[in-house]
Amino acid sequence: MSGVYVHLPFCPYICAYCDFAKWPFKRSAAERYLRALEGEIEAAPYIRASTLYFGGGTPNTYAAQAIALLVERLRARFGPFEEATIEANPDLVKDEDLDAYARAGIDRLSIGVQSMIPQEIQTLGRRHTLADVERVVSSARKTGLRSVSIDLIFAVPGQTPQSWSQTLQWSVGLQPDHISVYGLTVEENTPFWTWREREPVAFFDGAAEATFYESAIEALRGAGYQQYEVSNFARTGHECAHNMNYWENGEYLGFGVGAASYLNGERSIHTRELSEYLAAIESGRQVPSQRESLRDAARTGEAAMLALRTRSGVRFADFNARYGIDFLKFYAPVIGDLQAAGLLQVDDETARLTKRGLFLANDVCGAFVTFA
Ligand code: SF4
Repeated sequence: MSGVYVHLPFCPYICAYCDFAKWPFKRSAAERYLRALEGEIEAAPYIRASTLYFGGGTPNTYAAQAIALLVERLRARFGPFEEATIEANPDLVKDEDLDAYARAGIDRLSIGVQSMIPQEIQTLGRRHTLADVERVVSSARKTGLRSVSIDLIFAVPGQTPQSWSQTLQWSVGLQPDHISVYGLTVEENTPFWTWREREPVAFFDGAAEATFYESAIEALRGAGYQQYEVSNFARTGHECAHNMNYWENGEYLGFGVGAASYLNGERSIHTRELSEYLAAIESGRQVPSQRESLRDAARTGEAAMLALRTRSGVRFADFNARYGIDFLKFYAPVIGDLQAAGLLQVDDETARLTKRGLFLANDVCGAFVTFA
């Protein structure tokens, strides 16, 4: 399986915690970027992709007709797609946009919600209301989009166990097909970073984050969502195929500023400088990118790290056949340490994170990348 990712980096406003490649929306820059994307798509190598994903930024700062034309161009080049997702900011979505997405073949809508508490939404620097979210979810249903997903964030300064529980209950009440739940990460060069330097007590420590995460797991599993990845929960049949391809170490082609691709064992990540990206495409040069060839232990370590994030974990028969190693023998020292620490469970066929391992997933999975 392979996927195509398109990065649309403009936003109506900039959130205080955001470290993505993004810029405030300006019509002239957005149009110029669209032309550059079209150029990059035409010049790209062919892959047969089964999923398409528009991420950002805020993809729906572009008119729905522009998105529909982009889908058509991408489908002609790499499709047909079995799943096509667009991320959307709920305050910008109009009902007619959803119709246009559905007609274009987009069947998943991923809505940036983050919280139901107005104070927390404001702290994060977002501007939507609960009514916006409720309207968009209900309209998406009427439009017939196959899957509606919402994103939530925990460990937001000022959040309490009660307010987080309210957010979870309200979210479940919206009956989305898919819910992603992320702990707040404070990245350098963001206003949140400066805030934390100034006032560290406003932010939660690892133990408090684990408590928020645990209550999310309980609430969402209790409401019938399967946790199919560390941060992702879905009703059966609504797992995000595009992201599953990443975790299964499949190939993907990324377009746009800061976008990553993984083809023929090589990972490349485009520059995150918009001006550099545009200048390269417009002058017919290759987009400046960081490239890394993943071979042997680097490749298997990466594959193990990704697989362990999922509910099915590493399935030895598949893994050994695909990568030509004996997983249990090769990683015996790491596996032993993680088992002893109660972070990894191993049976005859699979290795999976334990409940405790889920809370420390980045460290546990990362141990396979740093080994060897
Ligand atoms: S969090 Fe999303 S909407 Fe906010 S600035 Fe970042 S990309 Fe834009």
